[in-house]
Amino acid sequence: MSETLLQVRDLRVHYPLKSGLFQPKTVLKAVDGVSFDIERGRTFGIVGESGSGKSTTALAVMRLAPVTAGHVALGDAPISTLQGEGLRLQRKRFQMVFQDPFASLNPRVRAGQAIRDALDLMNVGTPAERDDLARTLFLQAGLRPEQMQLFPHQFSGGQRQRIALARALAGRPELLVCDEPVSALDVAIQAQILNLMQRLQKELGLTYLFISHDLGVIRHMCDDIAVMYLGQFVERAPRESLFARPLHPYTLALWSAAPSMDARGQKRKLRIRLQGDPPSPLNVPSGCRFAGRCPFAEDACRAAPPPLREVLPGHHVACHRVSDSGQALYPLPTIS
Ligand code: ADP
Ligand code: MG
Repeated sequence: MSETLLQVRDLRVHYPLKSGLFQPKTVLKAVDGVSFDIERGRTFGIVGESGSGKSTTALAVMRLAPVTAGHVALGDAPISTLQGEGLRLQRKRFQMVFQDPFASLNPRVRAGQAIRDALDLMNVGTPAERDDLARTLFLQAGLRPEQMQLFPHQFSGGQRQRIALARALAGRPELLVCDEPVSALDVAIQAQILNLMQRLQKELGLTYLFISHDLGVIRHMCDDIAVMYLGQFVERAPRESLFARPLHPYTLALWSAAPSMDARGQKRKLRIRLQGDPPSPLNVPSGCRFAGRCPFAEDACRAAPPPLREVLPGHHVACHRVSDSGQALYPLPTIS
């Protein structure tokens, strides 16, 4: 039986920016109406260019960024509205892993102590049991017990990410929010950490919200995937459907920028080159946000924003130029 663990509804994170005395107030819409569910034990991925709002989505789910509007629930707990003690009691159920483990580890605290501190903070087991628990977490993360005496700088980047994982797992969380967890690592090390994360997921029944700008990594890890552009999802689908039939022109453009991706099988190579930079989230276009860079945009695209709608089973797209039955109404670019 599937069970929804995380539910995110119409999440918005708007940052009011300081403006001059006689200037109108400006608002930066970092996340602007994002919805998704993650079933227990599954991995939901968000992919998109830098600045699209991926990290802000993760931080808002974690209650580390202000939720302007919308709703986040972890099981029955309304995470986005809890305060104080109520939120504190839920905290250990969801933990975060960041891109740079060096920044998230205290350089003066030995690795074993960092884990022990997390166990103390979250009140896991009895104090007498915690040294054993720390040791177990260390082993689970693929580290050797004698390394518990070392300081963060004595580890490699991959090992530091293992420590960060062990620490995140201290409170036996149900959900792990991972923001570019392997982006700072060498490719060979990336694979080791991703495999470790998959093993831990199976062993511990973890659920992942997994963020990356790297399509290959997303494809390797995620059951369901959303493509984010300027604070919104432009496409959201199960992995197989997304890679077999990418529908949004922006998704196709991301695919064509990734050398290893051949989204429509061996026969066709896609080539959509994006013009220019994304518009600023300070100044969001009134129609489709992608229209200014889309080679297939028509007047209708600039007139009204396309809703995210289901066009194939579980496959949602926000594009005026995709039919209700999931057919691209624009010419599919091919280069043989
Ligand atoms: P991504 O992780 O996809 O690269 P981010 O979520 O970091 O994107 O950023 C999305 C947008 O929000 C960017 O334009 C960024 O400059 C802006 N932003 C992020 N955090 C803040 C903040 N604390 N205050 C103001 N703007 C922010
Ligand atoms: Mg980011």
